[in-house]
Amino acid sequence: MHIKNIAGGSYLHIGIVTSITARLTQFAKDFHSETVKLQINTGGVPLFRSSNVALWPILGKIKEIANCVPFVIGLFSGKTKLGSVNEFLTDFVDEMSKVEVDGIIFNSKHYPVSLDSVICDAPSRAFVKCIKGHTGYSVCERCTQNGVYRQNQISFPECEAGKRRDDR
Ligand SMILES: [Zn+2]
Repeated sequence: MHIKNIAGGSYLHIGIVTSITARLTQFAKDFHSETVKLQINTGGVPLFRSSNVALWPILGKIKEIANCVPFVIGLFSGKTKLGSVNEFLTDFVDEMSKVEVDGIIFNSKHYPVSLDSVICDAPSRAFVKCIKGHTGYSVCERCTQNGVYRQNQISFPECEAGKRRDDR
């Protein structure tokens, strides 16, 4: 495996096909599906209280395996903040795009693979989606309203604001 330098630290791509195949092997008797749906989680994990070293794993889980233990698809480690979401996710996105077309072969059988969901906490979600952090004014991911500050927090009283589009 090959560790590469990206903005803010180092990244190791373990791989989607590698990880899925390992889990299907491990949980073969619990897997009875014709498809593989992949659930993804990512987020920063501080390693030590006394240093700034942080890990950002890309974790996966197979939805069709009820007791599937999460697996590591890729791993970033750095002393500074993870700089570029594009660099961080390049290998994942490249492999995911290919796997969604090719599927995987397991025990001589072909399974289509799809990305089911990306599950993140609020700060990680904002980073991955390249949107504002969750504490600002116009932070609603679904609509375009500006929040109002009252009682020490930002509220979003409007229920009829315009929906977000990719360009705004
Ligand atoms: Zn909204």
